[in-house]
Amino acid sequence: MARIHNFNAGPAALPLEVIEQAQAELPDYNGLGMSVMELSHRSKEFQAVADGAEAGLRRLMRIPDGYDVLFLQGGASLQFAMVPMNLRRPGKSADYIDTGSWANRALKEAQVTGAVNVAWSGKADNYTRIPKESELRLSPDAEYVHLCSNETIGGIRWTQFPSVSTPLVVDMSSDILSREIDIARFDMAYAGAQKNLGPSGLAVVIMKKELAARAPEDTPIFFRYSTHAKDKSLYNTPNTWAIYLLDLTCKWVEAKGGVAAMEQANDKKAAVLYGVLDASDFWRSPVEVESRSTMNVVWRLGSEELEARFVSEAKQAGMVGLKGHRSVGGIRASIYNAVTLESVEALAAFMKDFEKKNG
Ligand SMILES: *Cc1c(COP(=O)(O)O)cnc(C)c1O
Repeated sequence: MARIHNFNAGPAALPLEVIEQAQAELPDYNGLGMSVMELSHRSKEFQAVADGAEAGLRRLMRIPDGYDVLFLQGGASLQFAMVPMNLRRPGKSADYIDTGSWANRALKEAQVTGAVNVAWSGKADNYTRIPKESELRLSPDAEYVHLCSNETIGGIRWTQFPSVSTPLVVDMSSDILSREIDIARFDMAYAGAQKNLGPSGLAVVIMKKELAARAPEDTPIFFRYSTHAKDKSLYNTPNTWAIYLLDLTCKWVEAKGGVAAMEQANDKKAAVLYGVLDASDFWRSPVEVESRSTMNVVWRLGSEELEARFVSEAKQAGMVGLKGHRSVGGIRASIYNAVTLESVEALAAFMKDFEKKNG
């Protein structure tokens, strides 16, 4: 079996143990004579899978009882639309902190259906840093404040979250379960599964119960959080396969020691790559040091030709997914929970070798 060093940004590497378990259980799940994909979403067997996934997330993230955990489709992108539809009542405004491509998508979507106050924007600086709390221009009567905890494309992340007096909503798509985050500081968090939780096609929403009830009356039924909360994510057919893989992934994280252990491993992996970047001028890390992401490490080389050569030679050496996002170029290594230290060390060794040959 040949497993490649996978630095894809999303869909991304999954833990090998999870894939192997899913493979072993595929034709005959739990003696039922069928795979999880073939089970009714309303069967007690599937309910046990979904309950396991929810319980796993609740334990790992210490989600308080007053929060619902929902399993929805439409990715994190549908949440960009659902958040303002549900949480911003008619005639009111919401605060958005514009730290990068994803935060900006969220705010553009919110502008379609109502008023938005951009509390800070890093666009003029090419999204290379997270703002200080003192720079935020928050409005006291905003319906909520939205931020993105880790910018997957720009490679920056919040370390300290701002204290705000209005509900705080966070897009955690690319750093959920990667580091300890006090979920109780947030009124709502959401994440597409395909970075740290499982495959694409599933979005996890964690929200205070009272927020789920806020939707204005003209919100389509399907787009109301209350609909999915009331029916325990079974209002319509959910992505049963992705929920099953989420359950296995949560069990894998727990077996590895939980989120604290993930964070330790991720800090170590990131330090290996930033160590190479900082050791010479051959590499350029475009982001502010204090804002560096431990999930998505981005860098530039002297020219686009050299960057293209880096990506293609890395591929020949068994390392894929290193081309930066098409909107920004450069190089990006996504090193989510499932990416091993061994893969990161292989990349670091390749980088040093590449520098010797081309520096
Ligand atoms: C990937 C990503 C998204 C988009 O997710 P989809 O599932 O493709 O809609 C949104 N926000 C962040 C931070 C992401 O990393």
